[in-house]
Amino acid sequence: MGRQSTGMSDDFTHSGYRALIAVFLKRGYRVTRFDEARPEEPHLILRHDIDMSLQAAEPIAEIEHELDVSGTYFVLLRTEMYNLFSAAAQISLARIRELGHEIGLHFDASLYDNDLTTLDAAADKECRILEDATGAPVQVVSFHRPAKELLGYNKTLGGRRHAYEPLFFSEIGYISDSRGGWHHGYPLDHEAVHQGHALQLLTHPIWWGKEAGLDPTTTLERFVLQRGQFLEQELAANSEPFRALLKLRSPGQD
Ligand SMILES: [Zn+2]
Repeated sequence: MGRQSTGMSDDFTHSGYRALIAVFLKRGYRVTRFDEARPEEPHLILRHDIDMSLQAAEPIAEIEHELDVSGTYFVLLRTEMYNLFSAAAQISLARIRELGHEIGLHFDASLYDNDLTTLDAAADKECRILEDATGAPVQVVSFHRPAKELLGYNKTLGGRRHAYEPLFFSEIGYISDSRGGWHHGYPLDHEAVHQGHALQLLTHPIWWGKEAGLDPTTTLERFVLQRGQFLEQELAANSEPFRALLKLRSPGQD
């Protein structure tokens, strides 16, 4: 591999994200929506899959706005990680939209029977619920942890375009920051980028933080801790026995 362990390619920080997108722009790339991207053009699709935290997406949405570009933020409906209709999630979604970005459906097909008719109907249903939650049309779907047979699926899903269509997944270059690293190569080293052709860049906002040098495990440990604290606050606000328990745990603090 031979990649140096220092420099921009390992910089999973907000400033690192800004710098990466700035290089694309400097090289003449134009950030486009899915339906505008053409394989042989220097087009860049900014896709974000929100697997864990909507709040983590906000700084990324701000950075893109400052660079005058916009991305598509794919959110899960059926997840244990967040609730799109919660007060906090509604604030994040509104902020992301206000910054000029699009919201897409992140679809977990593994929760349904594995036949395409079922998946098509389920995706449509989830899109309509998501449209209700955001007040905006949902035009694109991305699969969450797709089974191999769904990669390159050459039809619409729930009547919408999806991110693993051959056009977006093989005709256009594709690279992602899965597991918090460039395990499939660094975006600027991608063959499509060498040729000045289109690229779908998938990032997961959770991996991009304020601090440099955090490994993915530490990031996740912190996320778990924060979620735990938030759950405790919510319990304390809603439950007298839990407030009493907290008092017992830390006497003298009110
Ligand atoms: Zn996902």
